[in-house]
Parts: sequence; structure tokens; C-alpha cells
Amino acid sequence: MLYARVVLPLAQPAYTYAFEESTGIGEGDAVIVQFGVRRYYTGIVWEVSDEPPRLGRIKSISRRLYSTPLLSPWQRRMWEWVADYYICTIGEVMRMALPSLAKPSADSAEEFSKEIFKMPTESYVALPQELSGLDGGQLQRRIAELCRRAPRRAEIMTRIAALAAEKGAADGFVRRRLIDADAALLAAMRSRDLIRTQMRERGAEAESASDFLLPQLSPAQQRACDEIRGSVAEHRPALLYGVTGSGKTEIYMHLIAETLARGGDVLMLVPEIVITSQLVERMERVFSSHVTAYHSKLTPRRRTEIYLRLASSSGGELVVGARSALFLPLTHLGLIVVDEEHDPSYKQTDTQPRYNARDCAVVMGRLSGAGVVLGSATPSLESYVNSLGGKYRRVDLTERYGEGELPEVIVSDTMRAVKRGERKVHFNKVLLDGIARTLADGGQTMLFQNRRGYAPYVECRECGWTARCPHCNVTLTLHRQPERLECHYCGYTMTPPAACPNCKTQDVSLMGFGTEKVEQEIARLFPEARVARLDRDTSTSERAFRSIVTAFENGETDIMVGTQIITKGFDFDRVSLVGILNADNLLNAPDFRSAERAFQLMMQVAGRAGRRRGGSCVVIQTSQPQHPVVRQVAAGDYEAMARQQLDERRTFKYPPYSRLTRFALRCKEYEHLREAANAMADMLRRKFGARVMGPVSSTVETVRGEHRAEIVVKIESGASFGRAREMMREVIESMHSAPEYKSVVISVDVDAQ
Ligand code: ADP
Ligand code: ZN
Ligand code: ZN
Repeated sequence: MLYARVVLPLAQPAYTYAFEESTGIGEGDAVIVQFGVRRYYTGIVWEVSDEPPRLGRIKSISRRLYSTPLLSPWQRRMWEWVADYYICTIGEVMRMALPSLAKPSADSAEEFSKEIFKMPTESYVALPQELSGLDGGQLQRRIAELCRRAPRRAEIMTRIAALAAEKGAADGFVRRRLIDADAALLAAMRSRDLIRTQMRERGAEAESASDFLLPQLSPAQQRACDEIRGSVAEHRPALLYGVTGSGKTEIYMHLIAETLARGGDVLMLVPEIVITSQLVERMERVFSSHVTAYHSKLTPRRRTEIYLRLASSSGGELVVGARSALFLPLTHLGLIVVDEEHDPSYKQTDTQPRYNARDCAVVMGRLSGAGVVLGSATPSLESYVNSLGGKYRRVDLTERYGEGELPEVIVSDTMRAVKRGERKVHFNKVLLDGIARTLADGGQTMLFQNRRGYAPYVECRECGWTARCPHCNVTLTLHRQPERLECHYCGYTMTPPAACPNCKTQDVSLMGFGTEKVEQEIARLFPEARVARLDRDTSTSERAFRSIVTAFENGETDIMVGTQIITKGFDFDRVSLVGILNADNLLNAPDFRSAERAFQLMMQVAGRAGRRRGGSCVVIQTSQPQHPVVRQVAAGDYEAMARQQLDERRTFKYPPYSRLTRFALRCKEYEHLREAANAMADMLRRKFGARVMGPVSSTVETVRGEHRAEIVVKIESGASFGRAREMMREVIESMHSAPEYKSVVISVDVDAQ
């Protein structure tokens, strides 16, 4: 008898189960176990020992679930690291990391069996056994004999032989999909023993990984690529700081090709939205069937299929994925690329564990021995500081590729434009002139506004009433098509009131503006232009998103209005003007990162202009033209921004000079919440003293009818964060074990954004 510590997908520690050695069960395997009175779960065998535990009655493992382990040894170390660092259990990591259908649970063993995921299969065909081993001439003669007066059959057999040779299929079987023949004909051939057929698990055809058609690198790109190789060789993550349009993707391609050729796997992480855009296509053009895209819009079936296929793959896989791809079982991992490493979407914010995929990627590189490349035109200050300290090796790429030139930046003072009568609705004259000129030249324009909808809020001029969500404490945003007020937190909608519900006057007016309004006004000002809008409202499906992007790509749209979405990684040929409609609301966000983020956003959106030729331009509309960040963007001076922001962060002990851990408490009952939050803050203060801030009610006090409170603990760099996490874990555990706080849900966010 052997004993296994088994991790279950629950906020619980691992439990011990017994099994017979003859079952062949080993570490990393998924197994079926009974937990509680009658529930059956998928568990992961974490450790095996031959020593029986001293306490209690030990249940047995029912059986193994899949023929290959779901996790490699270094992946198990990775889950352990995530659980330790982000203060949760390994079971919670499991719950998040494995796709839902890969880890069934059920009330009985029979029911469980029905829930087990079956890999989709597809049919394969081969020539009859007797033909194997014949050389070309002999084979052709045999085929001709077998298919007398049936040239179509002979053709199919020849094609199978050719494909099998081309793909190097040792057993002669090739995908039926590749044979251009209808089912009836193949069935007839099989009944005459002209072919054999077989059902096999659907998997990517292993194609040879050597002759990729790679772009020729420019001398500057070549130098950067060599430096990255050097960094990888000394097991140090490389930070590729390359301006927008410098061709970072081309450098990645070379590094990826080398890894695949060695039989290694590659993980390329990109922000969620980029994945649905051009990048996957660009990668597929070079790496064809080696590429697997992975993101949250895939169905649970598809995600499970990818996970299980990769778990038994023999290497040579390139996964291009959003943050959740971090947990895919790439057993032969040789390279991890994190593109746009500064992007906030790498941080999981809504469910436990709240991990940062970029930081996890660096740890994963260490655990697996894979090389790590972080790339950005505007690196996060965290990574920048790591490169200053030598933890990362910084590699610079300061020029655009080819004929592309960085755009000229014009800062347009909104206040002055108003005074001079040079502003129409939301647009300063400089921008309108630019749009007109761009239209006349046949170029394209992108307009960026970081609010979607029509008007951010609706206010009564008389009494100051604003339309608010009854569930969340925020103003509702006006949308026009269809006409409604919508809560951007919970999705609540209502019809806009014709008169103020409070004082009954009819003077209810729209304040501020969103993308929908910009789109409408631009269409009115430039009736001849073809205008489109890209934001969360217009890209509800991947198809809708793609068709807007493709139309713009093909030059069927002249002006594209959009939110954050348009800043991310797009590579359009003809954009010669970019307008940032309101830099003020980026600069004034109440957050210590607002300056860094504003800089990154503006640089990224500006980076969409002039990627193929010079003479492009960016107009920034702002009422604070002297604001340091605006000047830094105008000068394209990342270093100046970094220096200034780091000075401020150091003074106020903000990250990267400290680590912030945020505890969020929520509860339907306000009184319970208040008591719990106070008790928790007291407990934390006894351990951490003045490093504890709060409790405060969150920026949005109530969401979906629940009250919320926050406590933040700030641990300065230099103090042991490992010890601090242990103490925080103790506090959470004592909160959980106190019966009076049962109704309060506590979540923890390490390195909160
Ligand atoms: P980045 O990701 O750094 O913003 P991209 O990788 O998107 O830049 O490159 C910008 C454009 O220049 C792309 O259209 C890309 O195809 C082209 N490009 C960059 N390097 C090369 C190269 N070595 N050969 C051919 N085209 C290149
Ligand atoms: Zn709401
Ligand atoms: Zn009113």
C-alpha cells in the first residue's frame, strides 16, 4: 500500500488517500477520490510516500482519471509558489488553473464516470499493410493493379502514400481530412481492403519544426536578439524595451523558432484583447499548426481539450494566450514571452488567487529552466527597477523598423481653444484640421476616449440630482443605441428620465462624453467620412470585433473611435493621425499609478500612428498642457517619466518600494461588515502597526447590493515579505474561524494594483 497527499479543488489542505502500487498512480496524476459523505472529486496526487499516516481511517483512491499526469514536477512547485505568495490553498490554485471539464465532480461514482471528458477523435486512413515497405516504383505498380479501371481510387491511394511520406508517419496513417474524397468512396475502398481506417484522438499534426519562414532582422533587431540570447543563457529574464513599431514581434519569432526547433515548448502571453486580433494570425503564418490560441472566450470544451492534449504532447508547442494560459501543462517549456508586460490585464482581479501572470512567468522561468523575455514600449516601473538592479537584463530597441517613424506630438490646450472660439463640441481646431487633412490625403484617424457610452453621467441642473445605480454606489452612464442608462459595474439598466425625479424640472443634462457620443459627433462634422467605433459595446463577440478591425485594416473605415481597446498592439498601415480627446481624466485618476498608466496609455495609442511611413501626428487635448506626464509623452521620454515617478513612489513608500496587500470584505449586512472590518484591522495592527491602512469603504461602496470595505497593508521593501504573508494568513484564518463573521466574505489581493 502507498499513501498519497491529494489536492482537491477546494479551499482545503491536501488529504491522504491510500492506493495499490500496482495501479501505477504517481505524482501529478489526476485521480478520483471520495470526499465527505458522498461527494466524488477530481484530485491531484501531490506527494507519494509508503509511510501510513498516524491518524484516522484512510480512504482509497478510486482510480486514475487520465493516462498521463496533468502536472509536471516543476508545475507542482509553481502551484505551491502561487498558493504561498498569493495567500490561498493549493486547492484554490487547482480550481482556477484546470479548465472546468478537466476536473469533474459528482455525487456518485457512476455519475462521475459520465462526467469524464472524452477527447474528440477524428478519422485517419492508411494503405493496406501489404503495401508497406514497397518503394516508389513497386508501389505505383501495385496501386495500378489494385485499382484497374478506377483511376479515382488510384489517385487517392497515391495521395495517402505521398502524405504519409511527407509527414513522416511511421505507421502510414494520415488525417482523413487531408484526403480530398467523400465518405462513400472511402467506405467502398475500405470494404475492398484498399485502405485501412482508424479513429484517433484529435491532435495537432506533429509537423517538422525546422524550416520556418522567418523575417530577416534589421541590424538593430539582430543586436537586440543576440543580447536576449545572452541573457537567457545566463538564466536572467530579459526586459526588451522597444519603442512601438520597432518589431519586437519579429524578434520573438526568431527566439520562438529556435526553441521549437529544439523540441521545446513556448508560452507567449499577451493581453486578452490582443489575442483576438492580428497577432495569432501573424504567428500562424510562420508557425502554422504549432500555434494554439488560448483565452477566456473559448468554450469550456475547447479549453479542456487543449489542456489535455498539451499534457500528453511531446513538445514543439507554441501557445499564444491571455493570462490564464500560464497554467497550461507545457512540459517541455523552453521559452516564455510576456508581450506588453506593463499591461494591467495580467493581474487577475476578480477571483482567488489574484495572481499577476507576468510575475508568475518570471518565477516559472526559474522553476522550469525556461528563458523569459518581457517586452514593452513602456515597461512597468516594477520591471524597470528590476532591470536597474540587475535582476533583469535590459535590452533596448530605440528605432522603428523600416520606413516607420515615430509621430510628431502636438499638445493642444483645451482652455485656450475655448477662449479663442476654436473648439467645436469636444474637438479643438487643431484636431479637426488634422482630421480634415488626413481624410483629404486618404489616411486614417484613430480617436481615443477612455469612457464608453454616450455621456458618463446625467445631472439635474436645478438640484444636482444624478442618476445612480440602486445596487452600486456609482453614476449610470447614458447609452444611445438603444437609449438607456447603464451601470458599468453590474449592468443594471433603466430608461433615462425626461424630468428630474427629485425636483421635477426638465433641465436634466448630460455631463462629460463617451465614445458613442464622439462617434456621433464626428459623423455629423464629417458626413463624408466612414466612422466606426471599437469598445466593449460594439465588440460583444469575437466576430463583431474582428469585422470592425478588418474593415479598418482594409481601409473601408476612415476614422475609428475607441476606448483602451484600440491602444493594444494593433498594427495598421495607414494610420497617420491619432487624437487623444481628453488626457485630463487619465491624469486625474485617484490612484498612485495614474501618472504611469496615463503615460503608458498615451504612448501606446500614439504608437498606432506612422508605422509604415513618416509624417504622422498625434494630438493630445488637455487643459493641463504643462503637466509633466503630458510633456514626457510629447518628448517620448520614458526615462524622465520613470525617474520622476520613482522619486514620488520612494517618498511615499509605494510599489516598487513596498508591497501592497489589499483585503476586501463584503457582506449584505452593513453592521456585520463594519464589525468584521474593524476586528480584522485591529488584528493586523497588532502585527503590522502603522503599516495598516483602513478599514475604508471601497471606492465603490456597494456593488450588487453588497457592502464592501477594504484594508490595505503596506510592507516596505527590505522587510521579510515571506514572514509578513504568514502573519496575514494567520489573521485570515482566525477571521474564518470566528462564528460571528460567518456571513462576511474576505478576499486577499497581494500586490494589489
Ligand atoms: P512592435 O510589436 O514592436 O510594436 P511590430 O512587431 O508590430 O512592432 O512591428 C511593426 C511592423 O514592422 C510590423 O508590421 C512588422 O511586420 C514590421 N516589421 C518589423 N520588423 C520586421 C522585419 N525584420 N522584417 C519585416 N517586417 C518587419
Ligand atoms: Zn450597479
Ligand atoms: Zn432636480
